Amino acid sequence: MAEIQLRNVGKRWGSFVGVHNFDLTIADREFLVLLGPSGCGKTTTMRMIAGLEDATEGNILIDGKVVNDLEPKDRDVAMVFQSYALYPNMNVYENIRFPLKVRGIDPDTHDEKVRRASAMVELDDFLHRKPAELSGGQRQRVALARAIVREPNVFLMDEPLSNLDAKLRVSTRAQIKNLSHELAVTTIYVTHDQIEAMTLADRVVVMKQGVVQQVGSPTEIYDRPANTFVAGFIGSPAMNLMEGEVSGGVFRADHAEIPVDAPDGPMTLGFRAEDASLADAGGQITAPIYTLELLGDATMISVRVGGALVSVKADKTFRAEIGEPVSFSVPKDICHLFEAGSGARIG
Ligand code: ATP
Repeated sequence: MAEIQLRNVGKRWGSFVGVHNFDLTIADREFLVLLGPSGCGKTTTMRMIAGLEDATEGNILIDGKVVNDLEPKDRDVAMVFQSYALYPNMNVYENIRFPLKVRGIDPDTHDEKVRRASAMVELDDFLHRKPAELSGGQRQRVALARAIVREPNVFLMDEPLSNLDAKLRVSTRAQIKNLSHELAVTTIYVTHDQIEAMTLADRVVVMKQGVVQQVGSPTEIYDRPANTFVAGFIGSPAMNLMEGEVSGGVFRADHAEIPVDAPDGPMTLGFRAEDASLADAGGQITAPIYTLELLGDATMISVRVGGALVSVKADKTFRAEIGEPVSFSVPKDICHLFEAGSGARIG
């Protein structure tokens, strides 16, 4: 059992605030992903939970006990980093066994534990090899096995897939999800990759400049982004966001006239590429084609609306020339509305 509570946790270096007022309870066995661009405070938050960094404000509790003053080794958490930090002179077996030795675990149990952990990450046949004789993906799996072997209550993972190529990233991602479920541990996972976040998480925390922007399930974050930052960060492609003016129940920007239920004034309107569709003519957006991208299963059409690039997914057979006019149907029920200044969601 490992519930983690962050109570108004903050990190300051002098006058610079790395993490501001982070307040969240992470449930036992939950898979929580911290997501955000470089420098938003994800790693610092995780290092504070691990005890590698002091919180300058607030309290961190594991299973109801304040751990702010506990050494990392006394927190029952295991970390996996993007750099695997394996011992080059030890073979795979010894690398995986190392945490058991350090922690003074009964040597009679080592062999069974090492073999079970290595089997979980499918390294049984590589136990005699040195790290230099392994691929990047295999090294990362040794690092995972080394965390698993300790049987911790909490896994902390900092961009563990970032050194792998695209294909290995997908298979290792699935393996991490499966392991976390099988081992029934609480997992906190840091990434700047929104696809990783969406596929792995029970809940996602989106951060920007040290401040939590939204906490929710992947579906909640995708379907109801709390502000334009989250809307523009989640999804591939990210949500189309256009600045314009509402008057008399119609949102207007260059090339766009979209009926909305909103009061008069400046506003940011968003919709997702897959929610709009091509119209024969007389759609709510009509503009010359800026680019066409063939994705295999679909064709992505982009136009310029005001200053923004707006994309709509069309059938894979759609073909046209750049510069040809195209019209999109954008019904009001697919639109997301945000305040012009703050970017906060309306409704
Ligand atoms: P990345 O994805 O690039 O690793 P991140 O979201 O994990 O980014 P952090 O490493 O948590 O970001 O850093 C958050 C902010 O705190 C950054 O602006 C960073 O420069 C700053 N920071 C980190 N460590 C220190 C330190 N020891 N002293 C001063 N500022 C620091």
